[in-house]
Amino acid sequence: MDHAIFEDLDVVIVSGGICGLATALALHREGMKSVVMERSEALRATGGGIAIQANGWRALDELGLGVASKLRLNAILLEKVRDIFLNGSKRLEELTSFSNIGEIRCVKRSDLIEAPAQDLPLGTIGFGCQILYVKLDTNSCFTILHLNNGNTIRAKVLIGCDGANSVVADFLELKPMKLHSSCVVRGFTYFPNGHGFAHELVRTRRDNTLFGMAPVKEKVKCV
Ligand SMILES: Cc1cc2nc3c(=O)[nH]c(=O)nc-3n(C[C@H](O)[C@H](O)[C@H](O)COP(=O)(O)OP(=O)(O)OC[C@H]3O[C@@H](n4cnc5c(N)ncnc54)[C@H](O)[C@@H]3O)c2cc1C
Repeated sequence: MDHAIFEDLDVVIVSGGICGLATALALHREGMKSVVMERSEALRATGGGIAIQANGWRALDELGLGVASKLRLNAILLEKVRDIFLNGSKRLEELTSFSNIGEIRCVKRSDLIEAPAQDLPLGTIGFGCQILYVKLDTNSCFTILHLNNGNTIRAKVLIGCDGANSVVADFLELKPMKLHSSCVVRGFTYFPNGHGFAHELVRTRRDNTLFGMAPVKEKVKCV
């Protein structure tokens, strides 16, 4: 072994994205303590909004009353999707109701990250903790996590929620998924007097370009 062991922990979750925080909260609800190790120095919300469909809301409801209800307060229920197809001077429009699909709302990613984090016991998340690589302790069959600060942690249970380029997936020798390379711009527009748009997701397509818009709140729209 090339590092001394500084700490022994039962359950370590890599890391503090949506999946890591939701997993930590689900374990907490079952009375299980875990430690979340996140490489960023603070909660990190990449991107703008995220559309959550009925199955996502069911999962959030399971995390306890607080999380889903806090998120619903800040996310309009979308009723329809309006698909617009542009081809030269031609324009085709299709309107589909979400009534058969169930609850769909566009949530601000920062809200989605903050809601479960607020319900976790203080000290659950360790910020600035990047896991460089994971090895197996052949004596105990536990995992050894090597951190960027030179520290080493031994974890009885290791849960990998570290997204693309996962060090846990590397340890498990899982083949990474191929990501599509595309150029994406996301953001919000704030309308101080309210936007007045219908409660619908609008998707406009021309050739290989897709432009999407959805209201998040009465004064905020996500593109
Ligand atoms: C720019 C962008 C915009 C997106 N927008 C949308 C959208 O609008 N709608 C939508 O549905 N999906 C969107 N996605 C996809 C969506 O982000 C992912 O499906 C979702 O974030 C996956 O959540 P996750 O918790 O699994 O991983 P992530 O959100 O990727 O979280 C992984 C976390 O792990 C941390 N981490 C990684 N490696 C380590 C390590 N070695 N040690 C410690 N910490 C580590 C990272 O800092 C990060 O906080 C977007 C993705 C990107 C990149």
